[in-house]
Amino acid sequence: MNNILIIEDEEKVSEVIKAYLEKEGYKVYCTTKGCDGISLFNKIDFKLVILDLMLPDIDGEEVCRIIRETSDVYIFMLTAKVELSDKIQGLNIGADEYLTKPLSPRELTARVKALFRRVDANKVTLLSYNEGKLQINKEKRDVKVNGENIFLTPNEFNLLYALASNEGKVLSREQLIQNIYGIEFDGSDRTIDVNIKNLRKKIGDNSRPPKYIVTVTKAGYKFGGEENE
Ligand code: CA
Repeated sequence: MNNILIIEDEEKVSEVIKAYLEKEGYKVYCTTKGCDGISLFNKIDFKLVILDLMLPDIDGEEVCRIIRETSDVYIFMLTAKVELSDKIQGLNIGADEYLTKPLSPRELTARVKALFRRVDANKVTLLSYNEGKLQINKEKRDVKVNGENIFLTPNEFNLLYALASNEGKVLSREQLIQNIYGIEFDGSDRTIDVNIKNLRKKIGDNSRPPKYIVTVTKAGYKFGGEENE
């Protein structure tokens, strides 16, 4: 069951979101306080937490930090437009996506559905692209290009898999580094660029623009889609 927890003190907002998400078949729980949210989170297995930044008791950042101590659950942070400068800080405390209020429940629902599609894609062992010309087998950790096995280093495989399993989502260099080397890595961001360059060469992704690994200026990389859209 895909359980979703909404921690939001404006009950009108959470009721509307809840109604939209329930229509899509999700089980939704709501709390208006950060502390209640954390205790509910510890009782039930949630797949996603939708968390408001400004709460009456402890703020959303603190809730996020506490949840992150024990869980890598997906967290969507809701912020008012005026608080948007907090976005950078929020990224450091580990929310997965940011949504600004006033909120479109339709857009939120679309983002939630996209998230669960990506999560489901992660469960699939074989990822296949471009009519099967590129195949990535998660379990065997092998990659085929035009039916031929190619050799990738473990880091290159992890990088390709991180991007491909998040198709269409921009991943920053920092996120990729954490994904591949772990947080304690203290090399340069450019290490990723070198890995990407080698990876593109190996998977034959050398057209302009590349068809698989797309550079997004000042943001990072993503798998598929247009450049800088
Ligand atoms: Ca609030």
